Amino acid sequence: MKPVMPERVLERMRRLLGEEGALASGQRVAAFPASPGEVGAVLRIAREEGWTVDPRGGGTADGEGDTPGAGAADLIVSSSRLGELVEHEPADLTFRAQAGLTVAALERRLAEEGQWLALDPPGGGRVTLGGMVASGVAGPLQAQFGRPRDQLLGVTLVDGSGRILVLGGRVVKNVAGFDLVRLVAGSRGGLGVITEVVFRLYPLPGDDRTLVWGFDDPLEAWEQGRALASLPLPLAAVEWLDGDWPEPLDGSGPRVLVRLLGSEEAVAGMRRVLEGVAGPPDRAWAGPESRKVAAAIAAGAAEGTAILRLHALPGEGAALLALVDQLAADRAALHLLGGTLRVSTRPAPADSTLQSMRAEAGRSGATLTVVRRGAREGGTGTEGPKSDFTGFSPPVAELHRRLTHEFDPGGILPGSWREAWSGEGGWVAAGKAGTRG
Ligand SMILES: Cc1cc2nc3c(=O)[nH]c(=O)nc-3n(C[C@H](O)[C@H](O)[C@H](O)COP(=O)(O)OP(=O)(O)OC[C@H]3O[C@@H](n4cnc5c(N)ncnc54)[C@H](O)[C@@H]3O)c2cc1C
Repeated sequence: MKPVMPERVLERMRRLLGEEGALASGQRVAAFPASPGEVGAVLRIAREEGWTVDPRGGGTADGEGDTPGAGAADLIVSSSRLGELVEHEPADLTFRAQAGLTVAALERRLAEEGQWLALDPPGGGRVTLGGMVASGVAGPLQAQFGRPRDQLLGVTLVDGSGRILVLGGRVVKNVAGFDLVRLVAGSRGGLGVITEVVFRLYPLPGDDRTLVWGFDDPLEAWEQGRALASLPLPLAAVEWLDGDWPEPLDGSGPRVLVRLLGSEEAVAGMRRVLEGVAGPPDRAWAGPESRKVAAAIAAGAAEGTAILRLHALPGEGAALLALVDQLAADRAALHLLGGTLRVSTRPAPADSTLQSMRAEAGRSGATLTVVRRGAREGGTGTEGPKSDFTGFSPPVAELHRRLTHEFDPGGILPGSWREAWSGEGGWVAAGKAGTRG
């Protein structure tokens, strides 16, 4: 294959999108299309030229923002010029917005109408709607409200051939059929560039409270948290936290945090039950202060050089805590109802540490994913891929290959070229990951 010349990528993108529509840094070029039609034109050119493409939202997954140097693809397709709230129907409790709108900016607009999107993805103020959907990632509120895929009603996707696909609908009750919308949630750019999303909304709750209990021992905190999480109450979030977290979550050490949302009466009732089990909390926040705590968790989780995600059945969380003991972690947060533990470390762990953790995780039925990978112990941060996901089993790899081919016959999107961890201690191309077994 001919090497790709960044000068040519830049020149063709600027011819299509204008001077402001593309920029270069080092060997990488970023394009900034401003409509689904422009995204389609960009992808058609990329396919014709055989360039690899990486869609980009707020860039929180690699911690480097919109910088063209951040990716391994020939061309980054940024959603930063696709930032409009297109429609908001307060009476329908839905909205339609372009993929580059940040979750934080959307929240501000919706709050004016007394509504909210009940999702709190990790990553802080830069996370975009498209990035959240593409990564499928959810924060503490997943305990009550599920993940983005559970609230996503529709999506507009530009596939690897440049076709604009309008999937799903605008209403909460939708027609039956094969659910392509849910397939897009978590596809990490592998099926196309998301240009628009439609989500369901909720009225802002009458009361919002966060209660926290501190402990000396991480395992004791985990046991108490599990006891609270298994109560028959609609708790919005139940988190186990360790390490130093930013304001207003000052202080360090293991703690359990519960968020309650609902009418004042319902929240007071739930609080009474919780206190009956765990005693009075060490601290409580209400209203905007409670929302600030949620924002501090989302932003604080994003600060590590490396971010690891470990997942086990909720009842197996203690095994995850034992695994994390091997790391000099700055911060760790475990969703006690979902079983996902996220750990931030600085610097990134060595390959050997990751390999032994992955092997141990496998033995206890858990999975380990490197979400972000910055500078390693003794490394510069420039070697190797920035993130990975566990290799597929052969049948899943074949399904993945065929599905990806339908949406991306030219193999330009990340589903075709992104590297994945082989599970055998090496990096392999995504399409070959089925060798893992
Ligand atoms: C603490 C922490 C934990 C995280 N945990 C996870 C995790 O468990 N799983 C996970 O996948 N990610 C995880 N992430 C990264 C996650 O992707 C981001 O936090 C965030 O949700 C993505 O928003 P973004 O706008 O910054 O997207 P980016 O970081 O720009 O992109 C994230 C992914 O989405 C794709 N993407 C972005 N925009 C589009 C678009 N418009 N169309 C198609 N594809 C697009 C990108 O190619 C990339 O694969 C985590 C990040 C942090 C900070």
